[in-house]
Amino acid sequence: MWFQQGEKGRIFVGRVSYQDDLLFSVENFAVQQGINAGWVTIIGALQRAVFGYYDQQAWLYNSITLEEQLEIVSCTGNISMREGKTRGHLHITLGDNNGNLKGGHLMEGSKVFAAEFFIQEIEKISLERTFDEQTGLPLWEKY
Ligand code: ZN
Repeated sequence: MWFQQGEKGRIFVGRVSYQDDLLFSVENFAVQQGINAGWVTIIGALQRAVFGYYDQQAWLYNSITLEEQLEIVSCTGNISMREGKTRGHLHITLGDNNGNLKGGHLMEGSKVFAAEFFIQEIEKISLERTFDEQTGLPLWEKY
């Protein structure tokens, strides 16, 4: 285990626009605001969901697409940097019309019906993702 200790930065609270891509909206907002590290929480609803499941043997994300109305029961994650770009890493739990839950690693293509976000900026840390040889994932680099 390793860690860094940061400090609280700015707090942003807002709404993602109707039919915008959920992941891109968060990433674009972070770029506009210059957020290099942060914690994200979102609730709301989607018209379409795309999320992934990481195959730990194949080192690949299997993508799952749901073309239906879904509640964003919970969506949490972080903002950090990868190869000089601001990246959001979000996991999402979705509820269907029977209250059944599905979810995974949020991917490009999730279309917002309505979504409220909370972003806590973290200052005085450096979160940079690099390729991890044990998992095949872009993980935070020790520094
Ligand atoms: Zn993930």
